[in-house]
Amino acid sequence: MAWTRFGKKKDMPGGLWIKCESCGAMLFRKEFEQRHRVCGTCGYHFTLPARERIALTIDPGTFEEKWADLRAHDVLGFTDMGSRGAVPYGEKLQQTKQKTGESDAIVTGTGKVKGIAAAIGVMNFQFLGGSMGMVVGEKIALLCEHGLHNRLPVVLFACSGGARMHEGAVSLMQMAKTCGALQRLNAAGVPTISVMTHPTTGGVTASFASVCDLLLAEPGALIGFAGPRVIATTIKKELPKGFQRSEFLLEKGQIDRIVPRSALRDELGRVLAYATGGDAVAAFKPQPAAAEPVAVAASDVADDGKAKKKGKAKKA
Ligand SMILES: [Zn+2]
Repeated sequence: MAWTRFGKKKDMPGGLWIKCESCGAMLFRKEFEQRHRVCGTCGYHFTLPARERIALTIDPGTFEEKWADLRAHDVLGFTDMGSRGAVPYGEKLQQTKQKTGESDAIVTGTGKVKGIAAAIGVMNFQFLGGSMGMVVGEKIALLCEHGLHNRLPVVLFACSGGARMHEGAVSLMQMAKTCGALQRLNAAGVPTISVMTHPTTGGVTASFASVCDLLLAEPGALIGFAGPRVIATTIKKELPKGFQRSEFLLEKGQIDRIVPRSALRDELGRVLAYATGGDAVAAFKPQPAAAEPVAVAASDVADDGKAKKKGKAKKA
């Protein structure tokens, strides 16, 4: 029965199997989730929902969510002419809230990374493509102010399709607002770290994600302003291989470092210890909370995951 569903290009949310967007391998959903949504065959890093990112990165039991009650408003009376017909923005917001259980496209709060306290914001691509509107901008600004007053380093995980067009100019203003908030941290000497994940595009790349002190990125993440297809059509030239991917941007000097998802918590701990004068010894010690599930999942997939995939691929 399930075979007919394998023909679909994108992932199947309810299904047991998921198709890798990069290499096309069939991945067993449970193993795939244990590996924190990294392909066991080619290492492609899929988009990670905000709550999973927090569970993976923040010390267990230390995350305190803040400003979760902020809600966006349909200030323009905007109606989206999508593929399913006209939907007013207010209605779309309601639907997305019900579907995702989130109030907007970012989760903000405070927590510890390997024992070091930080103010943390994680974008959620599942909420209207992780688009930045008034709530995302306001939450980032509040997070920065909280970081400033408590001298907490600010860590921002970007994952976004860009500015939220449903909010028009209001969404574009968030670019200036978030950059202004980060500048105040900069002036006060409070460290800021941006982690760009797949995809980080549009007004998010062009604002807070690119102006932090340290710019990290996950492997293979698409990071850019306009998409590659738009650029190729505009300049009528073939784009270089790997254009707008993290590896390409590292080579060009636009980002500082590429960190695989499995090593991100350790790396953030080290960087935060260095930036804050925290306990570097504790930060350098690998902690079982993050290391264990990754190691177990990796060996699982390497052994029987590939065998299963090959079998399935032939039948399909
Ligand atoms: Zn793959």
